[in-house]
Amino acid sequence: MRLNEIIKLKGLTKKYGEKIAVDNLSLSIRKGEVFGLLGPNGAGKSTTILMILGLSEPTQGSVQVCGFDSTRYSIDVKKKVGYLPDQVGFYENRTGLENLLLTATLNGQTRERGKQRALELLEQVGLTYAANQKAGTYSRGMKQRLGLADVLIKDPEVIILDEPTLGIDPKGVQELLRLIRQLSKEHGITVLLSSHHLHQVQQICDRVGLFVKGKLLAEGTVDSLAQQILGENGHQIKIKASPLTEEIVGQIRKLAGVDRVEHEDGEMSIWSRKDTTLQHVLEIVLSSGCQVSSLSQEKIGLDEIYQRYFEGGEQE
Ligand code: ADP
Ligand code: MG
Repeated sequence: MRLNEIIKLKGLTKKYGEKIAVDNLSLSIRKGEVFGLLGPNGAGKSTTILMILGLSEPTQGSVQVCGFDSTRYSIDVKKKVGYLPDQVGFYENRTGLENLLLTATLNGQTRERGKQRALELLEQVGLTYAANQKAGTYSRGMKQRLGLADVLIKDPEVIILDEPTLGIDPKGVQELLRLIRQLSKEHGITVLLSSHHLHQVQQICDRVGLFVKGKLLAEGTVDSLAQQILGENGHQIKIKASPLTEEIVGQIRKLAGVDRVEHEDGEMSIWSRKDTTLQHVLEIVLSSGCQVSSLSQEKIGLDEIYQRYFEGGEQE
């Protein structure tokens, strides 16, 4: 194993009866990296995380964290990893500070050291003002930030966050994600987070993996993914013209390289993987006597791909 590979999955598979929840997943996550495991509900993200943590046994394949096999050495793995589950639980009748102190002492820290760390972390996650407020009164976003502090108080090398942005308002999401990235970059912590919201997490992830129905569709930097999936030339053409008849739209649909055409109110969007499409579209439109009022061509972004592949995830 290469030293900088902190999490290493090889042929990881999990079956529940006949159902394959995770299908032959291989992936390496490097030290200090923020990695986003992205996929719709039911893709197998939580199942993968549980196997990484050694909380669920793989049907096949292997997981290593910091060089330890998660299945055989789950205790060693738990010492290295801070885990924030999708449902964070706190003692609602205790304050935020008391909850953190409890975690610190359970992890073998002295009360003094624990209290000092807890106060530092509350400051870092922006909860100093609520330190002495009962956790039961915290909003969902505050609980997630307290959860982050709770995970960090163990001084983990790796943190794993399952759907950390779920149920938080958009502003809270931005703040939480920025905080996660900042903590990772300042302290060299490796972060694996799962999400089904690409647009939320794409700015803070060094790399993402697109996970659909238990399979990894592609992984890489956000910029490289679109290319990997669509090839070099994936792009979208938008054209406004009138009159855009069904016949014109039909002709464009038949062009080689065109994946999809949408047409509404004199405006047409064309998804293509061939550079020559723009030229052909213009020829068809102009030769039928249309007036073109606007025309644009853009590389297809990941959002576009995400929507296309992630339609059809299991419903919540
Ligand atoms: P995600 O976290 O991406 O939403 P999950 O890992 O929770 O996906 O689930 C992946 C698939 O495995 C789903 O079809 C889910 O119903 C199934 N699954 C998850 N946990 C269990 C379990 N304990 N028993 C049976 N099926 C499960
Ligand atoms: Mg899940």
